[in-house]
Amino acid sequence: MVRINLYSDTQTQPTIGMRQAMSRAEVGDEQQFLDPSVNQLCDEVSKLLRKDSALFLPSGTMCNQIALAVHCVAGDEIIADQTSHVINNEAAGAAAICGAAIRPIQGKRGIFSADDVERSLRAGRALEPRSRLVVVEQSSNAGGGSIWPIKTLEEISVVARTHDLAMHMDGARLLNATVSSGIDAYRYANTVDSVWLDLSKGLGCPIGAVLAGSDNFIRKAWRWKHRLGGAMRQAGVIAAAGLYSLEHHVARLAEDHSNAKLFAQLVSSIEGVTVLNPEVETNLVFFDVSQTKYTSADLSTELRNHGVWIGAPTSTSMRAVTHLDISQSDIEEAADLIRQLIS
Ligand SMILES: *Cc1c(COP(=O)(O)O)cnc(C)c1O
Repeated sequence: MVRINLYSDTQTQPTIGMRQAMSRAEVGDEQQFLDPSVNQLCDEVSKLLRKDSALFLPSGTMCNQIALAVHCVAGDEIIADQTSHVINNEAAGAAAICGAAIRPIQGKRGIFSADDVERSLRAGRALEPRSRLVVVEQSSNAGGGSIWPIKTLEEISVVARTHDLAMHMDGARLLNATVSSGIDAYRYANTVDSVWLDLSKGLGCPIGAVLAGSDNFIRKAWRWKHRLGGAMRQAGVIAAAGLYSLEHHVARLAEDHSNAKLFAQLVSSIEGVTVLNPEVETNLVFFDVSQTKYTSADLSTELRNHGVWIGAPTSTSMRAVTHLDISQSDIEEAADLIRQLIS
């Protein structure tokens, strides 16, 4: 049995308080705007991000795919970091659903610059794709939970506007970035045309994500929501979990960040282990185990046999993610176990 689950912040169990909020939720047909809980959630997120409107969706992946489809038509080109979720973890949705190509940028820790965007823009010749959209991921998952500096986002936003490109933020962990940096979510959101946040990551909900943008953007997004089968009915039972999490699970993300820092510190002192993102800006820790007797897959299996689950995204690296079901003593126990196994 897994006792300490560091595989992902998607692994959280809904808390008692959250389940109670879900059971009390007022509900209605959300497609008809008759679900008070969904309406309230969309309202709160659009206020938090200072966008006109918001749309409740089953997943973050659907938020990304709908945003790409609203911003792009077939044959357009999207600029995104090579490590991004839209490139690597959405089953080529951009190509399959809206027909757009993606131009990968080699950023640093998942983050690229306004100059990188300038260099990737097409000149507008008939034989080229049309540059249409810039996607940023706040925080960058594969980049190690790294946070895009607000200045970088503002500079990219200027380039995008100047060249008539739209800009979209994959904010799966936007609130982690906000809590860690102290910069309000709306300031990050203000640099982009569309943005979403995931309820089922660090916020601890079982399902759901909320996409926000202008009234015009959300109107178009609704059509895609229906088209992709993402329109729901009495979705208030899950929206209530989202409302609960926005009230109770945001400030506490700071604990996840300090637990991640502690974990990085503890494992970095183990012979043969190298932390790949020693800055640990948020709740993700990547570490290399190639100088130990284990491959990452073998170490992952061995840890799991002892009740600790840590993912092995590559043959040499491991990824540990902290969240609300992980305590400081879990971190100490997991790091101790790694030390014992390796030495
Ligand atoms: C998890 C994640 C997504 C997808 O969200 P789901 O709710 O799992 O579909 C998108 N982008 C990033 C950066 C993620 O970490």
